[in-house]
Amino acid sequence: MESIVVLGSTGSIGSNTLDILSRMKNRYKLLGISFNNNTKKAIKQIEMYKPIFVCCGKNADINLLKNKFKNIRFLQGEEGIVEMISMKDVDFVVNALVGTSGLLPTYYTLKNKKKLALANKESLVIAGKIFSDMAKENSIEIIPIDSEHSAIYQCLEGRKGEDVDSIIITASGGPFLHRENFENITLEDALNHPNWSMGNKITIDSATMMNKGFEIIEAKWLFNVGYDRIKVVVHKESILHSAVEFADGSIMAQLGAHDMRIPISYALSKPRRLNLEFKINLADIAALHFENPDFERFSTLNLAYGALKKEDKNLSLILNAADEVAVSYFLNKKIKFTDIFKILKYSYAKFENNLNSDIFALKEETKKIKKEVSLLIKKEIGG
Ligand code: NDP
Ligand code: MG
Repeated sequence: MESIVVLGSTGSIGSNTLDILSRMKNRYKLLGISFNNNTKKAIKQIEMYKPIFVCCGKNADINLLKNKFKNIRFLQGEEGIVEMISMKDVDFVVNALVGTSGLLPTYYTLKNKKKLALANKESLVIAGKIFSDMAKENSIEIIPIDSEHSAIYQCLEGRKGEDVDSIIITASGGPFLHRENFENITLEDALNHPNWSMGNKITIDSATMMNKGFEIIEAKWLFNVGYDRIKVVVHKESILHSAVEFADGSIMAQLGAHDMRIPISYALSKPRRLNLEFKINLADIAALHFENPDFERFSTLNLAYGALKKEDKNLSLILNAADEVAVSYFLNKKIKFTDIFKILKYSYAKFENNLNSDIFALKEETKKIKKEVSLLIKKEIGG
């Protein structure tokens, strides 16, 4: 029996993880969960899944929770999350936090040599080198939850990677795959993803394809491949979740329904597989389509490749910080969809960061860039 902690349990990945864990009661004991503000959902989860520790955000009403659940130990804020994952009893951490909030939890999970299933791709975008080095030094595997990376991971399992030619990441292309003009796109349009149901930030990142850009960076650090061996192909059905091309021209891929409970369950049950209800019938799907991405309309992909080319400037940290601010302004209807692209391009050209910084310096740097990007938006765009 392993003790597990789910960070970001009230989110889209977090809730799906709790669902999967409820089917694996003889393998995992749910020790702790964390959430930020959604107390109502957290209360439901506490009643249903009965964790022993619960960490809430700084602004959540901890006294209300303490009065309601006398047998649970409540912690608060980032320090609370760090305390929870550092507990001796914890074996396994699922990091389903969003944005930079996932950075230190990834760090302390690896530092304390716990198993890690990682959904928080931003950790690898900000500090991929540090985390891949830590994982190697501590002989810990970072198990991907992101569907594309889970697919690649499954195709590579049992291999050392010697014969790998390239990694092929598929992209649904989001709601604006073939839309010529991005002016007048509303928040509601951008939140309407054709295939996946996800949290708001990643849904907007999918609409701009910055998400795919982050996934290129995530793949580099997870699988130790150069950017010139990572390809993106648009596949609008989201059935083939990514692939690996080998030296002899063979391509291996993983296919399945577009439900995140499949990659989540694999991260928790590998190498075995759970019996899940999300089967697909290939004859019903009939056809799968593939096309090259449009790098002009989705300039976000070029920014990600560019950041990997100029690795010494750590531009991926800049992209993550600028994107976090831009998406939050867009979600609050303070800027236009097209402004997100402008802000990313501008920040990429203006800022740089020292890759040799440690994790705490990278966190501070992210904070500083986010502040500067906010000021820029207020000054130039009036958000
Ligand atoms: P959600 O927005 O749905 O959930 C985020 C979770 O993190 C919630 O529990 C939220 O709490 C908590 N949280 C938010 N901000 C903070 C903070 N500052 N401090 C502490 N906790 C915080 O996100 P998703 O589940 O969609 O995504 C989670 C991660 O997984 C992201 O990195 C995303 O890129 C990645 N991912 C997601 C996929 C998906 O299908 N959703 C697919 C692949 C990757 P509260 O609810 O209280 O606000
Ligand atoms: Mg993905």
